[in-house]
Amino acid sequence: MSQEQDAAARAAVLDASDPLAGKRAAFHLPDGVIYLDGNSLGPLAHAVEQRMAAVVRQEWGGSLIRGWTAHDWIDLPLRLGDRIARLIGAPPGAVAVADSTSVNLAKCLAAALALRPGRKVIVSERENFPTDLYMAEGLIAGLGQGHELCLVAREDLPGALNDRVAVLMLTEVDYKSGRLHDMAALTAKAHGAGVLTVWDLAHSAGALPVDLSGAGADFAVGCTYKYLNAGPGAPSFVFVRPDLQGQVQPLLPGWMGHAAPFAFEGSYRPAAGIARMLAGTPPILSLAALDSALDVWDDVDIVTVREKSIALGDLFITEVERRCGDFGLSLASPREGAQRGSQVSFHCPDGYAVMQALIARGVIGDFRAPDLIRFGFAPLYLGYRDVVDGAAALEAVLRDEAWRDPAFQNRAKVT
Ligand SMILES: *Cc1c(COP(=O)(O)O)cnc(C)c1O
Repeated sequence: MSQEQDAAARAAVLDASDPLAGKRAAFHLPDGVIYLDGNSLGPLAHAVEQRMAAVVRQEWGGSLIRGWTAHDWIDLPLRLGDRIARLIGAPPGAVAVADSTSVNLAKCLAAALALRPGRKVIVSERENFPTDLYMAEGLIAGLGQGHELCLVAREDLPGALNDRVAVLMLTEVDYKSGRLHDMAALTAKAHGAGVLTVWDLAHSAGALPVDLSGAGADFAVGCTYKYLNAGPGAPSFVFVRPDLQGQVQPLLPGWMGHAAPFAFEGSYRPAAGIARMLAGTPPILSLAALDSALDVWDDVDIVTVREKSIALGDLFITEVERRCGDFGLSLASPREGAQRGSQVSFHCPDGYAVMQALIARGVIGDFRAPDLIRFGFAPLYLGYRDVVDGAAALEAVLRDEAWRDPAFQNRAKVT
């Protein structure tokens, strides 16, 4: 057997014994596409499509304003929060769904800073996702209380925690490299110095086991449109440790977070519990999509997802290095599966054009400046054969220099 046939045959054996193989049928994946970008935008589940049609036609169209009560729209932000809580190791009543991850991050940071009035420093990582850093800078400017953002390298984080620091703000899985932080260890270290933690779970929720309670995390935010497959721009989730909730004075005290929204009182009184993190009217169409998208997780063990995710990533690294070693690619992610989230990135010369050419062949990943081609491995709808075929397509694009086509050079707004 050729090496080529051998790789395909081994992948077929792994697919045949994959406990998650049956889940793929739940998703609409276009013919001829290998989708390695579920870490940016999860695919559409068939059930979500049907639910959206019903919500639009029957609930909105038929019930009109009565829908808030008749279909319990008003409780969706907290009901869905409880469904997500199960996936991130949080207890009931600790998670709400609202706004965007960026906005929730600002809300959590503001709450954390207010809980540590004598301390003026937010510690984060230089490589953190830009929106997280922008939100911290903007909040500091808006508060005007002399806070500062201290950005350090990953290895210097523990040493940066001292009695001037109010908050440690980190993204658990790095969006570029996929490198994973030890949430429990860093949270314990932070607490030892009296520092509160704000965790961004954008690339964690639905990708790997998260244990917010076990880690003792104080605040967390994350996306529902990535591994949770709730659709483009679906709202974010926000977690506040239950014993802190009563002390949170919301940065954005909107009426949906008021103790009695329909009493229309003249001034703000925070709702009890996590509801005070809500601000404005919830986006019911997106929440309905999320509700339906979460069904696929009901009978899934996240540990099984994690095992397969690591195996898919390991196989991709092996295949890409075997096939593409001559073309200047180098691994930008940890080789050790336990230290990665559910994505693998490579430094790649002319990476933008290479990714465009790859997408034109039906293998969809993405590009992150300055030179990373990035691939996400979502175990619910990807198999081992997809990984082998994806690596083979990358090899073909590099070998044929298909990426030199001028059509692949012009950068779109979204990369
Ligand atoms: C995707 C992502 C976001 C996105 O935030 P939005 O407000 O939903 O645009 C934030 N943080 C991280 C780490 C991300 O990966």
